[in-house]
Amino acid sequence: MYDLIIIGGGPAGASAAIYAARKQLKTLVIAGEFAGQSVVSEDIQNWIGTISISGKALADSMHAQMLAYSHGFVEEKIGQKVTAVKKLPEGFSVETDDGKTYTAKTVFIGVGSSRRKLAVPGADQYEHKGITYCASCDGPLFEGQDVIVVGGGNAGFETASQLLAYAKSVTLINNAKDYFADPVTIQKVLNHPNMKGITDVTPIEVKGDKFANVLVYKDNKTGEITELPTGGIFVEIGLAPATGFLKGIVEMTEGGQIKVDPRSGKTLTPGIWAAGDCTDLPYHQNNIAVGDAVRALEDLYIYLKTK
Ligand SMILES: Cc1cc2nc3c(=O)[nH]c(=O)nc-3n(C[C@H](O)[C@H](O)[C@H](O)COP(=O)(O)OP(=O)(O)OC[C@H]3O[C@@H](n4cnc5c(N)ncnc54)[C@H](O)[C@@H]3O)c2cc1C
Repeated sequence: MYDLIIIGGGPAGASAAIYAARKQLKTLVIAGEFAGQSVVSEDIQNWIGTISISGKALADSMHAQMLAYSHGFVEEKIGQKVTAVKKLPEGFSVETDDGKTYTAKTVFIGVGSSRRKLAVPGADQYEHKGITYCASCDGPLFEGQDVIVVGGGNAGFETASQLLAYAKSVTLINNAKDYFADPVTIQKVLNHPNMKGITDVTPIEVKGDKFANVLVYKDNKTGEITELPTGGIFVEIGLAPATGFLKGIVEMTEGGQIKVDPRSGKTLTPGIWAAGDCTDLPYHQNNIAVGDAVRALEDLYIYLKTK
């Protein structure tokens, strides 16, 4: 039986593994791939302590650090997905998609999530070419431009508010009549002179040349089609956490985010911790996933040693 099984090889899982190695916990890391969502980014500029790094180099350096300090305590199983976690009288069993089962006293979950994608013609083609899913990551690249945010919830408004610091103007496109964000946030953001909100319209196409430069949308009431020119499109239409296989074992929000105690990363199931984009904590960033995973490992270690 392992002391710990870590599920996920993104920033959260990697940090948990590095701390587990330093604490000499007998650990197994199981990950679909040892890389986080930002692996597709060419130029990450907000990884603290590094002016610029590609997502691939960041993932590789985390992996190398884990292997360098594993000292025989951390094993890995990469390229395999966990399909179930079950409670045992002592600890947990973890099943993978190659039919194997492993057991551990504790489990750390860092399975992340994916951004819900804009499902219209042109959206795939222009992803990372004018369409982006992360304002904190890419916002500064759009300085002085007229940009569009698709979404009408808190994430959409937070994105719009961040972009107002660099962009010439921000237009928020919402497919419903009402916004879903906090009223105070809505008011504050919409009051900005460079901000415009368009509601009750549905994006139907993204057009461009080398980069996206037009969002086509349809008025839900009149059916009128509008082509809105833009320097960039930021999409904030929700997250899809990779937590489906955890139903019944940890408590989750309606949207599938794992509920955790922000002081410790504990889930509501004793013996299971979680961190990063799969949790219900706000703000999803590499630095946050890493810090929250470290906190969880500190707490998990005390649990193991004082149990
Ligand atoms: C395009 C893009 C660019 C971004 N750029 C930046 C940036 O510049 N700066 C920044 O701070 N943040 C950026 N982010 C956000 C950042 O990537 C995430 O906040 C971060 O990756 C979250 O880390 P995580 O470890 O929680 O989850 P993830 O990175 O999502 O990692 C999840 C891990 O779990 C594994 N996994 C999932 N399900 C299973 C399963 N069932 N069994 C086994 N393994 C599983 C996956 O293979 C992966 O290893 C970006 C996000 C995107 C989408």
